[in-house]
Amino acid sequence: MALIDTFGRRINYLRLSVTDRCNFRCTYCMPAGGVEKLSHCDILSYADLLRISTQAVAAGIEKIRVTGGEPLVRKGIVQFLALLSQLPGLKELVLTTNGLLLPEMAQGLWDAGVQRLNISLDSLNPETFARVTRGGDLQRVLDGIRVAEEVGFPPHKINVVVMRGVNDNEILDFARLTLERPYSVRFIEYMPTSGDGDWRELCVPGSEIIERISREYPIEEGGSSARSGPSRNFRVVGGKGSLGIITPMTGHFCDACNRLRVTASGMAKSCLFSGSGVDLRPFLATGDDAILQAEIRRIVAGKPGRHQMAEKGEDPAPFAMSGVGG
Ligand code: SAM
Ligand code: SF4
Repeated sequence: MALIDTFGRRINYLRLSVTDRCNFRCTYCMPAGGVEKLSHCDILSYADLLRISTQAVAAGIEKIRVTGGEPLVRKGIVQFLALLSQLPGLKELVLTTNGLLLPEMAQGLWDAGVQRLNISLDSLNPETFARVTRGGDLQRVLDGIRVAEEVGFPPHKINVVVMRGVNDNEILDFARLTLERPYSVRFIEYMPTSGDGDWRELCVPGSEIIERISREYPIEEGGSSARSGPSRNFRVVGGKGSLGIITPMTGHFCDACNRLRVTASGMAKSCLFSGSGVDLRPFLATGDDAILQAEIRRIVAGKPGRHQMAEKGEDPAPFAMSGVGG
């Protein structure tokens, strides 16, 4: 069965946030003082997250990305992923992580059935990395990336949020990385999420990123799949890896959107920028999975065609990405 929204888009990808907690404090994701945490009783149990996932897959979701906050800080995550990977009909189980806990957890994740990792890595320079993550240790993340390769994961996707004057001087370094390593480096346009006034100064348009790379290297377009969503992919000719641009601010991000999001507190969001979303807890409380699945279908049917910034040029209400899962 397929989940098709009113704009004819096939919604086959669920981003499932399992926690709002994180062991980093990235400047683009949360304010310096952190964000108010959900109380423990507001965070969905693994049993409820599994029920939602099961009904979403029965409705037509084929790919689940587990995210957060930092998903690896939630106790019991590996056992939960092992259950998720067994869902009949689920074709892809992937995880987004900041990589800090990969040195000790990569083997368990691979054994649990996680098929691929997206790792956030915004700088290859230790000082810049520490500045962006507010204290993160680049070497530990690089070790985690290496260990995850060693236990068997296919080449990672590396997410880079590009910020002018912060890490945009490293665009070519990341492009060069794909010459030697088979990674898929994806440059993400900075999105205004915590109410910062100067986001337009920080945001480097995807077109500029491609232009800066193509001035240095010959590039060729190509490489996206039915479930890969709004990433425009290309590669440096002869490179082992690939590059991608995700352009929520300047591109046709919404036209190719195939996503549904569920937060750790059970809010389902059909659009990243669509306010708080629909609370799934009353539907979970009925104990009736058919009702839960019907609500998931209703939420997808109501998915907006474009986010409000693309539609009207309006800034979104401030929110922390850590609570939504990116
Ligand atoms: N902690 C994990 C991590 O950092 O990969 C998963 C959660 S994080 C919220 C998911 C993704 O959202 C990351 O790739 C991050 O780079 C992206 N993200 C967070 N805030 C963003 C922003 N303001 N603009 C663009 N991407 C953002
Ligand atoms: Fe944590 Fe990921 Fe947000 Fe950074 S981007 S603060 S690692 S949730």
